[in-house]
Amino acid sequence: MVQRRAIFLDRDGVINHNRPDYIKSWDEFVFLPHALEGLKLIAATGWTTIVITNQSAIGRGIITEAAVRGIHARMIAEAERAGGCIHAVYFCPHKPEDNCACRKPRIGMYLEARSAFGIDLARSYVIGDTVSDVAAAQAIGAQPILVLTGLDSKDQLRLVEENHPGYVVADDLLSAVEWIYQTENLPGKALPKLTRRLDRDLTPR
Ligand SMILES: [Mg+2]
Ligand SMILES: [Zn+2]
Repeated sequence: MVQRRAIFLDRDGVINHNRPDYIKSWDEFVFLPHALEGLKLIAATGWTTIVITNQSAIGRGIITEAAVRGIHARMIAEAERAGGCIHAVYFCPHKPEDNCACRKPRIGMYLEARSAFGIDLARSYVIGDTVSDVAAAQAIGAQPILVLTGLDSKDQLRLVEENHPGYVVADDLLSAVEWIYQTENLPGKALPKLTRRLDRDLTPR
């Protein structure tokens, strides 16, 4: 079977502004600057684009699962209007204390996506704003890219630095995708706006 490469995206703090009281409606879903451009550039790779997101607000009774699905439908529509393409969204509805297999840093959602789409995890990327995203990426053997657009990016960066060598850090989603273009020698406009990197040779190959 032909294995596809994927770019896995976290949602809150990567695609849209996160908020400490959770995203509870479409009104509260605000795209981050350049996120739609980033999604468009991802679509041009031809790889599979999958959003993997913890949504414990469902388990906490703050938002219904139907409302979360509605937000995702509108997010996908807006991405497509901007030239992007999100092939699937996986969300974990559980609370941390539920101890499920899907809540990141656990990898249940990535494994589901792998079987549904035939993803080669080792040749895929995970773009996230928290240590959970980076830990999950490393657990599945993908390349993590930490973006600094989350709520507590300084703390997250420190935690990742201390515990998860081998990650890449970029200012935002668009910068992360530009780094992928550069690293993979993908055609098109690859304008490296990299903040910093660790353990990866950035010399163009
Ligand atoms: Mg996040
Ligand atoms: Zn779960």
